[in-house]
Amino acid sequence: MQAYHIPPAEDLLKLDAMENPYHWPEKLKQKWLSELSTIEINRYPDPAAKTLKEKIRSVIGIDNNLSIMLGNGSDEIIQIIAMALAQTDRVYMTPEPGFVMYRQICQSLNVCFKSIALNSEDFSLEKEAILEAVDREQPALIFIAYPNNPTGNLFNKDLILDVIRKSQGLVVIDEAYYSFARESFVPYIDQFENLLVMRTFSKSGLAGLRLGYLIGPEAWLQELEKIRLPYNINSLTQKSAAFILDHYHILEQQAQQICGSRGKLFNSLDNIEGINAWPSKANFILFRTIDKKSNDLYVNLKDSGILIKNLNGSHKLLENCLRVTVGTEKENAVFLEALRKFV
Ligand code: PMP
Repeated sequence: MQAYHIPPAEDLLKLDAMENPYHWPEKLKQKWLSELSTIEINRYPDPAAKTLKEKIRSVIGIDNNLSIMLGNGSDEIIQIIAMALAQTDRVYMTPEPGFVMYRQICQSLNVCFKSIALNSEDFSLEKEAILEAVDREQPALIFIAYPNNPTGNLFNKDLILDVIRKSQGLVVIDEAYYSFARESFVPYIDQFENLLVMRTFSKSGLAGLRLGYLIGPEAWLQELEKIRLPYNINSLTQKSAAFILDHYHILEQQAQQICGSRGKLFNSLDNIEGINAWPSKANFILFRTIDKKSNDLYVNLKDSGILIKNLNGSHKLLENCLRVTVGTEKENAVFLEALRKFV
């Protein structure tokens, strides 16, 4: 294995990690800081994060018949689920190119990990391939990112429902980019015994807090709680997230703004000769350099102070592909100007 590499971003325009580029109004920030000062930092946090969970339930609108589990980022939730089900004779599965952490975590647990290649044209799921693979491999666990990272598309909902029906194992729908796609499998949780939905606050403006949540039936979540470490959500995160959830409309407005900028960025990208961009339902856009090597473009952009993600070499379907996070209008303009210069 190799450690997951995160490139240093100091002094760079950071468009590589799907962060929200906006801040909170100054007055709100001051109110937040004064609330933080009441925390007894010498004490352990509430191990059940009760207040925060209740706040998430009411603000996000999660039915009382469903349970919630919190994670130190959704990365930790992926790890908890993967640990809970791990056995040497079991297979875990995901479509690829996909979110690399599924593979990374499964490797660390020594579980057999199989991927199903997406369609090379539009990165959609291949119906036959996935249903046949689920039938053949009987995976104990399937991760499906919805929308998918790094491709940005939503897979066909009916096909995912077919996968859930066909699978005897657990299916986790990862809705990390829900704020931008507004499509969800939460309404289906009741209909299946093997469906959980995972989300994160990282993309909607709280990446620094590290807070993800899992929604599902109590029967599943009480088992997963056995793996979760007792104080995984620290006091500062609990207090901060509960605070901003009282002003959640601000994050939602920012997500709307990002969606507006995403449309403009996509059109501009797609109009650049030598660039092919894929439409996105998330807060990033995947694109390919047609003539020029993406490695050179990546380095040129970095040298001029802009950090995006180079995906070339990470999967055979991502040859010469790069991924850019949607920033502020100004940041997007700076990126586009540099890109036009180097393509
Ligand atoms: N799922 C997907 C699909 C992601 O793209 C990411 C972050 N890149 C995560 C989960 C992890 O998010 P976090 O740990 O910040 O909650």
